[in-house]
Amino acid sequence: MSEVMVDSVVTSSDFKAETIVDAVRHVVGTPNGVLGLHEPVFAGNEIAYLEECIKSTFVSSVGPFVDRFERMLEELTGAKRAVAVVNGTAALHACFRLAGVEPDDEVISPALTFIATTNAIAYCGARPHFVDSSLATLGMDPNALAVRLGAIAERTARGTINRETGRRIAAISPMHTFGHPVALDEIAAIAHDWGIALVEDAAESLGSTYKGHAVGSRARLAALSFNGNKIVTTGGGGAILTNDEELGRRAKHLTTTAKLPHKWAFVHDEIGFNYRLPNLNAALGCAQLEQLEGFLASKRRLAAAYERAFAHVPGVRFSREPKDTTSNYWLNAILLDEAHAERRDDVLTALNEAGFGARPAWTLMHRLPMFAQSPRGDLSVAESIERRLINLPSSASIRPRDE
Ligand SMILES: *Cc1c(COP(=O)(O)O)cnc(C)c1O
Repeated sequence: MSEVMVDSVVTSSDFKAETIVDAVRHVVGTPNGVLGLHEPVFAGNEIAYLEECIKSTFVSSVGPFVDRFERMLEELTGAKRAVAVVNGTAALHACFRLAGVEPDDEVISPALTFIATTNAIAYCGARPHFVDSSLATLGMDPNALAVRLGAIAERTARGTINRETGRRIAAISPMHTFGHPVALDEIAAIAHDWGIALVEDAAESLGSTYKGHAVGSRARLAALSFNGNKIVTTGGGGAILTNDEELGRRAKHLTTTAKLPHKWAFVHDEIGFNYRLPNLNAALGCAQLEQLEGFLASKRRLAAAYERAFAHVPGVRFSREPKDTTSNYWLNAILLDEAHAERRDDVLTALNEAGFGARPAWTLMHRLPMFAQSPRGDLSVAESIERRLINLPSSASIRPRDE
């Protein structure tokens, strides 16, 4: 909290958007046209695997690339089971269902997240319940979580309920913002103490580690995304990670129409989802995962270059990976000092006019009309981050100029 309030040593009149543009240009050079926020890199076996896939005629929801993609994800993350699905939102929806989220439940999530986290909660008929974020991780603040639960939660025979609404709190869903892992041990301990399921939105953080373990590797349930703008892409795609064999089987069943295995009969034993990732997309994914290590190395070099470039720019701070973690630096972010927050849009305009695809943080979830009535704790840190944060071009293809 205190860091939010620190006043800048730069007075507002000294603060120049051009200084930030210069720092970005120093790192990435002068763009030839527009340098997007995050562009995919296809430098491996993409075309070969896609061709193989098309020639095999297995382009749709079954095929060897789906299995191979899942095994590669298990290998890379260390999770027991990976289940590929059609996108990250579907992965989250399935995770919440598998965690036992029911209509009229509440799910605790950050207000500072992409809409998918919150929509997936709503798809279950449940309500999001927002808690504050941490300046250090940009993700859910364990202290804010503990304080909020302490204020409103009560353990009862039907689970932990929100005393103010009477609704059950069915899950807690932290999100690893821009690849920076949240304080997972602290959040997991709180979830455990209250008997609430933990579902990690790891959509942005493939390749990030927390205390030496890949994010999602020890999760009961975590969701990944392979959208076109993520660190690796399948065009569109996602995956459920779990360390529980039985949950893994259920995840596959629920996302493949809940069909009972049989040579020819169509028998389904519950209302499942057609969330299967097509083999064509999985083929692209296999080629992309082969390059993950290289992408991670390249993104680390870019992040280090941004960090160096902004170290001496007054009034701005580079958001570095939290302690005990490695971030995949999916999106690089800078934070303007609170004193310059009102200049954020000037900086965004200047960056975009110079050809840099810079973006603000997402509009906080509780400001959106669908979620304005959702229960929430104090959100002052998330609101401060929203006012001050700017994402910078972060593609793995960008080679810093000062290397
Ligand atoms: C990308 C993303 C998702 C999933 O998005 P899809 O486009 O459905 O794959 C979920 N949560 C967060 C935080 C994301 O950034």
